Amino acid sequence: MPTKKICSIVIPCYNEEDNVMQLYSELKKLSIPEHISLKLLYVDDNSEDDTWPRICELSRADSSVSGIKLTRNYGHQAALQAGLREAGGDAVITMDADLQHPPSCIPRMIECWEDGANVVNMIRKPDPTLPVFKRVSSSLFYKTFRFLTRLSLNDGQSDFRLFDSFALSGILQFQEKCIFLRGIVCLLGTKQESLEFIPAARQYGETKYTLPKMLRLALNASISFSAFPLRLGFFIGIICISFAFIYVIYAFGIRIIIYPENIQHGWASLVVLISFLFGSQFLYMSIMGEYIIRIFNECKNRPTYIVEGKTSSVGKS
Ligand code: UDP
Ligand code: MG
Repeated sequence: MPTKKICSIVIPCYNEEDNVMQLYSELKKLSIPEHISLKLLYVDDNSEDDTWPRICELSRADSSVSGIKLTRNYGHQAALQAGLREAGGDAVITMDADLQHPPSCIPRMIECWEDGANVVNMIRKPDPTLPVFKRVSSSLFYKTFRFLTRLSLNDGQSDFRLFDSFALSGILQFQEKCIFLRGIVCLLGTKQESLEFIPAARQYGETKYTLPKMLRLALNASISFSAFPLRLGFFIGIICISFAFIYVIYAFGIRIIIYPENIQHGWASLVVLISFLFGSQFLYMSIMGEYIIRIFNECKNRPTYIVEGKTSSVGKS
């Protein structure tokens, strides 16, 4: 009998005791091609409720279920990273525990993967039932992110996606500590396909993305993918110095010649001096910024490139 392909499903959970079982039974109902076997990996992000005992219970009853528990609440992105490192197989799917990512999409994702996609991104269709604040803040975040990074991150991009083993090995080469997976996937290259889905309502419990967590994610995503804020000093510096030069021409050229009687001594030189010094300071800060950008990039230790293929002659002398 030919060996089955393994597709692991990574599910980060934080206080999802009621969703763990529900998601399990939904996943078990799926009609998956015979030659594929699903494995479930729950990542407990240090829940305070009975999430972990439920995962352990499931794992004892079904050998295709396993779990890892983190020592404290590291956040969704870190929990996903932990799951991706732990999961093996020919493909890995990441999805939320609350059933907002409909399990019924999984057969389509697998089909797309078998047709040759390295990554299958699931794009959330606009959801009119979401609170206005969440819709506005999310759209604002994606717009700012695109402006700052020039990466084409779709408004509805979610962390519901499939990686084949090649894309997964690429993702695991990104060693950074404050990871923003949606951004990393944009840097990955490889053959990526997108499918749309209609998000379901959260099954049990409340959102675990509190406002501070959302702000931290947005800040982390923007800072780790864009050096623009550090380069802003350059533009402010140029504006201040240009203003100083224009004011010199205005004050000493036009005003002294045309209205010499109105001149207040010292005023113009003060304005010019302050603008020039501020401008120079900003310019110097932007030079320091360039060094910090380089240190930051080195610290992130991102792969410089990912090799897609090699001819058979590589390595033979
Ligand atoms: N989650 C996590 N750690 C956290 C916050 C959330 O593992 O600190 C998990 C959560 O259990 C869920 C997924 O991340 O499976 C997405 O969170 P949630 O559904 O609360 O976010 P929302 O859909 O409201 O944006
Ligand atoms: Mg959710």
